[in-house]
This record gives sequence, structure tokens and C-alpha cells, in this order.
Amino acid sequence: MENKKAAAPLPEDLPALRREYENYKALSLKLDMSRGKPDKAQLSLSQGLLTALTNDADTTVDGIDCRNYGAPDGIPGVKQLFADLLGLPVFSMFIGGGSSLEMMFDTVARLMLFGALPGMTPWGKQGEIRFLCPSPGYDRHFAICEAFGIRMIPVKMQKDGPDMDAVESLVKDPSVKGIWCVPKYSNPTGVTFSDEVVRRFAALSPAAEDFRIFWDNAYAIHDLYDEGETLLNLYDELVKRGKADMLFEFASFSKVTYAGGSVSMMASGEKSIAYAKSIIAKQIICTDKINQLRHLRYFGNADNVRAHMKEHAAILRPKFEAVLKIFDEDLGGVGVYTRPKGGYFISLDLPAGTAKRTYTLAAEAGVKLTSCGATFPYGVDPLDSNLRIAPSFPPIDELRTAAKVLCVCAKIAFLEKQTKE
Ligand code: PLP
Repeated sequence: MENKKAAAPLPEDLPALRREYENYKALSLKLDMSRGKPDKAQLSLSQGLLTALTNDADTTVDGIDCRNYGAPDGIPGVKQLFADLLGLPVFSMFIGGGSSLEMMFDTVARLMLFGALPGMTPWGKQGEIRFLCPSPGYDRHFAICEAFGIRMIPVKMQKDGPDMDAVESLVKDPSVKGIWCVPKYSNPTGVTFSDEVVRRFAALSPAAEDFRIFWDNAYAIHDLYDEGETLLNLYDELVKRGKADMLFEFASFSKVTYAGGSVSMMASGEKSIAYAKSIIAKQIICTDKINQLRHLRYFGNADNVRAHMKEHAAILRPKFEAVLKIFDEDLGGVGVYTRPKGGYFISLDLPAGTAKRTYTLAAEAGVKLTSCGATFPYGVDPLDSNLRIAPSFPPIDELRTAAKVLCVCAKIAFLEKQTKE
């Protein structure tokens, strides 16, 4: 979190701020900073994917005819791409369809119904179970827990990852079965877990033998700058301790090529991935290998994927910087915000008790933000402080206006609260 640069607004500024706010309202704005969707220009970077396969002769690879059934866990070339990008062995992987979130949901469902490994009692038959939820975190992870009635325990997200003292203590409870993590450029804080945090994850000794780490490496290669942050490889650390089955790692090309039209990946230890595959085999005979092959032909190798991500960064970086510049200049020190080196979000922590009011004011002025509280389990931000800003989708001029409106709203909410007290 960076601290303020401008002076804090004073109560006597309120009338002028309200006039400024009314002026924005009169513009009937319709601006959206609510979801981390890629810009259209980013999608156009992958145009060649649409014509990466042009005829029948192109559709066979490694002896696999991608038009037909077979290779249910994915084609070797795509596994190799993920292996090279994420530092995972190909045998640890299952390649899925266009959504990693779907694989996360399905993984929770599988463990609820069938247990974590053969012979283990399904989570769904163990009474109330709990997940640790580093917060602020990804709202859709929390939604999966809610869908399955899994009780969520918030854990504070710190500068270097989740509060590991809390995690180590909470996993002593055998009803704690999992933890959600976005270990690199976390959604929404932009935090990359430190080496020490990753090592402490690897060293965890949970009371539940079916405790699993859900390692959603969604932003593994999504650097905004050339000098990206590095994440210690949890899989390797777990292998050293013979505990790789405790991990489910996920990733996808959703923000590399097309959302919902890409390829996704799940990795785990040998026993765990074999068990997962044996159950998935009852569900699906094979996934979309034509799309897998399209990705393989289009990129060819991991270096080309990395080069492609630099083109994404060139589009995204100015947007992040535009929002941060306005926060630096206009927020008047009301709140602290992250300066992420990658990922899709800026996390803004406003003075306690003012986020909801800021959100409502912004909404009434036509600026849509991620729902207040969404970054916390059950949608409840205990301090009413955090807002998630998604700068990727709007054109940069709209983004600047939206950020300015947000600053005015935050200052009004801050002064209203101050003057009421
Ligand atoms: N995980 C995180 C942390 C995300 O932020 C997102 C999308 O915003 C996803 C997963 C969704 O991934 P997919 O499109 O592969 O389902």
C-alpha cells in the first residue's frame, strides 16, 4: 500500500466537492470499473488464434487426431506449454476447457461427493466444513464456498500474503479443509506471496488429512512491467516434503487469449491427480482438443506466450498508471491504494466506514465499481473500507473520468463521516 501524496480535504471543502459531484452527475456518465475484463485491443492481440488451424491436415499432433475422442486429460504440447510457464511436470496436470473457475468449482464438488483420495470420507459427509479465505480476496472463490454451504473463515491478507500465523493455527481444526489463494498479483491486492509465505504453506501440517490448498495461479504470467515479481514454486516445495497431493493448482489462458475460449489447467500430486482424472472420466470423454491445438499452433512455445503477454502489458500499463496518477493527485490522501506490478486490479482502502457511501455516490454519478464487500466472505467487509478497482476494460479517457469521480466521492464520504462524528 502506498500512502497519500496530497493534503487531506477539510470540512469547509465539502460544498465545493458537492458542486463538483453534481457537475459530474449532470454528465449522465456510464462508466464501468467493476470487473477485470480485458480491453478489446487485448482481445485483438490473439486474432491469429482464429485462423491457427486451416484444414484437416493440421488437426493431428503427436499421433492424436484432435477432432476425435481420446487424450482426455489434454494434448501433450499444451501440457508442455503450461509446464514451461508454471514450472510443473506434465504428469501432474489435467487440461480442461475454457474456464479454470469451472475446474475449481468441480474440484470442490468432487471432494464433497467423492473425498480427496480413494477411501477418504467425502467432505459432504463430514458435517460442517470450513475454508480459509484470505481477504480481501476473489469474490468468485467465496461464491463457490457459499454454493456448497462451506463455512468461510476470513484470514487477513498482508503485504507478503495471508497471515500465516493465523493459517497455521486455524488448520489445527480438522473441520478446516481448504484455503483459497491467488499467490501472484493477487485479486484484488496485487500481492505476490513471499518465498517465506510459500515455504510456510509447504510446511503446513493440517489436522485434516484431506486439507487442500487451492492455488489459483490466474495471474502467473500477467506482469505489467518487464521486471515482474517472482513466486516460489509451491509444487516443488511440497514435493520436497512428499506432500504434493495437498495442492490443487489452477491456471488458464483466459486473460492470454479469449475469456471462456481458452484452455485451463489443474495440477496436483500424483495420487490426487490420478483420482481426479478417474472421476472426471465418468463426466467427460474428452475436452476441446481442437482449441488446445489452436493454442499450441498459435504460440508454439512458452517464450512466444511471454512475448504476447508483453503486448497485453503495453495496453494495460498506461491504464493502471492513469488511475494511480489521479489517485495521487486527487484523492487528497483519503485512503491507501496498491501499486500492483501485475494482475488486473488496484485495491483501495478508504477510511473505515466510508466504502459503501463512496460506492453509492459513485453509482449515482454513473460509475460502476465492484460491489462493496464483494472482496470479503459473505460480502461483508468488517471495516467497510475496501474497494476493488478494475482499470482494464474502459477506454483510458473514460477511466480517467471514472477515477476522478471516485476521488470526489471518496472525499465527500470521508468528510460526511467526519462532520457527523
Ligand atoms: N481466478 C482469478 C483470481 C480471477 O481473477 C479470474 C478472473 O477474473 C479467474 C480465476 C477466472 O478464470 P477463468 O476465466 O479461467 O475461469
